Amino acid sequence: MTDEQATATDGLRGVFSGRLLTAAEDMAPFLTDWRGQWRGAARAVAQPDTAADVAAVVRWCAANGAPVVPQGGNTGLSGGATPDAGGRAVVVSLARMNRVRALDTLNNTITVEAGCVLKAVQAAAAEAGRYFPLSLASEGSCTIGGALSTNAGGVAVLRYGNARELCLGLEVVTPAGEVWDGLRGLRKDNTGYDLRDLFIGAEGTLGVVTAAVMKLFPAPAARLVAFVAVPSPDAALRLLDLAQNRLGPGLTAFELVSELCLELVLKRFEDARDPFAARSPWYVLVEATDLISEARAREALEALLAEAFEAELIADGTVAASLAQARALWALRENISEAQAAEGKNIKHDVAVPISRIGAFIEEAQAALARAFPGVRPVVFGHLGDGNLHFNVSPPAGQPHEAFAKLRAEVNTVVHDLVAAFGGSISAEHGLGVLRRDEAARYKAPVEIALMRAIKQAIDPHGLMNPGKVLAP
Ligand SMILES: Cc1cc2nc3c(=O)[nH]c(=O)nc-3n(C[C@H](O)[C@H](O)[C@H](O)COP(=O)(O)OP(=O)(O)OC[C@H]3O[C@@H](n4cnc5c(N)ncnc54)[C@H](O)[C@@H]3O)c2cc1C
Repeated sequence: MTDEQATATDGLRGVFSGRLLTAAEDMAPFLTDWRGQWRGAARAVAQPDTAADVAAVVRWCAANGAPVVPQGGNTGLSGGATPDAGGRAVVVSLARMNRVRALDTLNNTITVEAGCVLKAVQAAAAEAGRYFPLSLASEGSCTIGGALSTNAGGVAVLRYGNARELCLGLEVVTPAGEVWDGLRGLRKDNTGYDLRDLFIGAEGTLGVVTAAVMKLFPAPAARLVAFVAVPSPDAALRLLDLAQNRLGPGLTAFELVSELCLELVLKRFEDARDPFAARSPWYVLVEATDLISEARAREALEALLAEAFEAELIADGTVAASLAQARALWALRENISEAQAAEGKNIKHDVAVPISRIGAFIEEAQAALARAFPGVRPVVFGHLGDGNLHFNVSPPAGQPHEAFAKLRAEVNTVVHDLVAAFGGSISAEHGLGVLRRDEAARYKAPVEIALMRAIKQAIDPHGLMNPGKVLAP
């Protein structure tokens, strides 16, 4: 930081009541992402207490030409919350804005500040006898503001929708340092352009989300989990169709797991158990919930599996008999990323294609990768019910992972070209940040990029908000 910047940063202390960090060791955790993949620099980290504080910080940044980098739990996977290396930015951490402002059981809404950790929102809802369904493996650290800004998905999108669909209203500090109070808990509001939807998924490039009204739901009385062996992704798709017809809204999760994924988890985690005697090329985790009773949920799920078995959609299946067993089955799905990471570097893709085309996509992508990079091992799993696959690629067995990681761009091109050909998306739930920014520009139509730039220019004409994220400067 130059002397001039240091003097100017001193002025920032006086404009708001929260905490200001300027010492290198205090700022360090805010200047890199949780995996240490991106590193940046900043002149300060501001931790405001109120929306008015955030507005004051943003006004100060505008007056002093300091870019604003909003940050929640810093668990994002696309580098969106890390400042660039220039050292001019102020990171605005929402961590201290973590209050539940209101909970209305008749309106079925909860109004929370942006820094509320997802798990705390779930707990507040449960305490009031309601259910808040947004659920991700990072829920113990990620915040509502971050989840909304990346339009996070997770494991219950099939039934309840992603973060966008769960949000009714927002409070946002604009790049001009004004507070927009859009905290309306309305299910219907057709009064012009939907500003809320602009800020959701904007990854902090249009403003700082300071609070949100989120939907609540009745708390399920029972949650049952089955793990089944299926011969192919197409059989899994037909099982999905059957499950949707038999369970209706009781179907809350439908997750695909490949044989290699299960193998990696069993190798890495000592307490993981293979549910079946014989291996299968594919597996599906099915979660069913019921508002009335466990008996009803069990009856419906077992009837579904019997019918699927009869139709030869599944070769084997098990329904968890206890909460501990249900957790163990979920762990087989949720520990895949960690098990794969333990093997060494791999090349990750978070893609979406129309659900009906998932089987064909997996087949073609595997074949295209085998042609271009003989021996590579696709590690395929994901939210099949949402058309969202984590299509990760590990090097051929025995080959060094570091060398393989250098092929990232080429591997990405093979997978993402095919995603585009299937009418899909190269980022289903992790956002663009800096990781996928330039690739997105390649796959989106020029008119789409031009409209995005026009929106950015209209709302943030000086390019103050999280520059370099989502759109190239
Ligand atoms: C183990 C693990 C599992 C995950 N699983 C999933 C998953 O299943 N589904 C899924 O969708 N994602 C998943 N993620 C990634 C996911 O994006 C984040 O966990 C979460 O949504 C980000 O929240 P955060 O508070 O950590 O945001 P951060 O990482 O702090 O920020 C993410 C982006 O949002 C912006 N931002 C943050 N807060 C605000 C705010 N208040 N106003 C404006 N902009 C803001 C930042 O500038 C950045 O661009 C996972 C991550 C991890 C580490």
